Amino acid sequence: MTHSDELFQRAQAHIPGGVNSPVRAFKGVGGKPVFFARGEGPYLYDVDGNRYIDYVSSWGPLVVGHTHPEVVAAVQEAAAQGLGFGAPTAIEIEMAETVCRLVPSMDLVRMVSSGTEATMSAIRLARGFTGRDKILKFEGCYHGHADSLLVKAGSGALTLGVPTSPGIPLALAEHTLTVSYNNLDAVQEAFAHFGGQIAAVIVEPVAGNMNCIPPAPGFLEGLRSICNEYGSVLIFDEVMTGFRVALGGAQEFYNVTPDLTTLGKVIGGGLPVGAFGGRREIMEMISPLGPVYQAGTLSGNPVAMTAGLTTLKLIQTPEFYQRLSQQTQKLVKGLLERAHDAGVPMAANQVGGMFGLFFTEEEEVTNYYQATNCNLDRFKLFFHGMLGQGIYLAPSAFEASFVSSAHGDEQIEATLQAAEQVLTEL
Ligand code: PLP
Repeated sequence: MTHSDELFQRAQAHIPGGVNSPVRAFKGVGGKPVFFARGEGPYLYDVDGNRYIDYVSSWGPLVVGHTHPEVVAAVQEAAAQGLGFGAPTAIEIEMAETVCRLVPSMDLVRMVSSGTEATMSAIRLARGFTGRDKILKFEGCYHGHADSLLVKAGSGALTLGVPTSPGIPLALAEHTLTVSYNNLDAVQEAFAHFGGQIAAVIVEPVAGNMNCIPPAPGFLEGLRSICNEYGSVLIFDEVMTGFRVALGGAQEFYNVTPDLTTLGKVIGGGLPVGAFGGRREIMEMISPLGPVYQAGTLSGNPVAMTAGLTTLKLIQTPEFYQRLSQQTQKLVKGLLERAHDAGVPMAANQVGGMFGLFFTEEEEVTNYYQATNCNLDRFKLFFHGMLGQGIYLAPSAFEASFVSSAHGDEQIEATLQAAEQVLTEL
């Protein structure tokens, strides 16, 4: 029995399923989760001493790699000054100024402690601002686990939402409309029926929770103009794409401006941070300026702000995103070539430092239906084969993967060599 296996057994005694977030349990790929001891640059080391090239990046935050020396030093210094005050600090201002400069659609920003809190608060704000109850989201997009957002489509195209989890009142779920990603006609139809009642459209501007699916040309622009027409708030959930696909996020990459933006992951540099912000007129509705309530004991925590802000400084170096994107492209192109040579049908999507592989005969994957109809058995074999070769991919076929600035040619080449062997044996 490995040390990881022993820990998993022990964990299950007092932690539901042995994990503090479900995807970590390896249910999507079978087998038992690996327990990690430390990370360094592009590498993770497990409790048994095995080394892996990491493409999970703590699910996105570690865009400069694990334990970046500057981030760690800054965090140590901040921690020595105090772990939290629950009162205003100067570093919160620096964080707000930095975020609003890098993401110009954000006039005002409020810090929170997770992506879930960011989207939940943005939805409440949009409802408070418009005085409307309904929201529209897209099938396959994940926005954290707030009640209004854990909702899938009903069986007909225009039925009201159905909770994806017990515990969510139907009366709440029916205010969430769900339509297919990249399908503007469905959005138009939903607005034709419910337009005056829709407070907000929330979208992952590059979907990263049904593998990786970029927006079709015109999709985000179409959402912008529909929201303008009906007076609904357009929310870009950039928890994953923010500071990941470009310095200014997907809104800079695709040049479409939302009313509100939610952030998480990279903005905390590995510590628990989220944020939401946007147009001044909307954000001024938030307490204490306005009547929409929102608060947090740990919001703006100085140690977390330091980790995030130091990471945000590192990503502002010249050509950071050009290089990140080039490395990711090199990896994806190499993987597709090796799959082709091995006779394994594969498609891929990539935007900036995020990418996704699909075991499918289709040339392009653009929606939830296609993403969920890929060959899952093949993915599982590939995942475990790569794990055995020291490559740590997301333990689910429906998660995007991430490259960090610490991934150099050496790691990309080693990943391609491992993939060549694994794909040949599939
Ligand atoms: N929004 C998106 C797009 C996400 O990918 C996630 C998490 O993966 C969330 C929101 C929720 O963030 P958190 O897990 O920090 O609550």
